[in-house]
Amino acid sequence: MSVVSPRFVIQKHRASALHYDFRLEDEGVLKSWAVPKGPSLDPATKRLAMAVEDHPIEYAGFEGVIPGGEYGGGTVMVWDQGTYEPDVPDVTKSLRSGELPFHLRGKKLRGGWVLVRTRGRQWLLIKRKDAAASKTVDVTVTKPRSVVSRRLLAGIARDGGGDVKKAATGDP
Ligand code: MN
Repeated sequence: MSVVSPRFVIQKHRASALHYDFRLEDEGVLKSWAVPKGPSLDPATKRLAMAVEDHPIEYAGFEGVIPGGEYGGGTVMVWDQGTYEPDVPDVTKSLRSGELPFHLRGKKLRGGWVLVRTRGRQWLLIKRKDAAASKTVDVTVTKPRSVVSRRLLAGIARDGGGDVKKAATGDP
């Protein structure tokens, strides 16, 4: 067991389609899911999360423009970051069994969450009922900016020589 809490990051990614890459540190990599609609604070709203390939830990800090011809080409924002506490003793084992309950300590997202596999690479990301839950606040709308630079997607694209118009379609 590590002494420091593992980290999490959510990268908002305006690629061929807008999505939020939800990443949890485990076993020296970032386990990753692409969440098309982003996280919901409403426990009744289950968000589709497609399991995607692991990313290196160093990628957690990346914000900027991926060139058009490359995989994932588009604009990437560090939408939230922090640490998480698994509510189970073995994250790897729980992910293999298809259900991981955990608590987030981010700048935007807090409290209890759970990832549940439905079939194949399809998972659901669900907020658990607690003080950080909300039936009314859409956090993707109320908190659209980068937690590391305060920029919107359009600003990140502009600074990185990317497609500003396309990036702006991902901003509220
Ligand atoms: Mn992505």
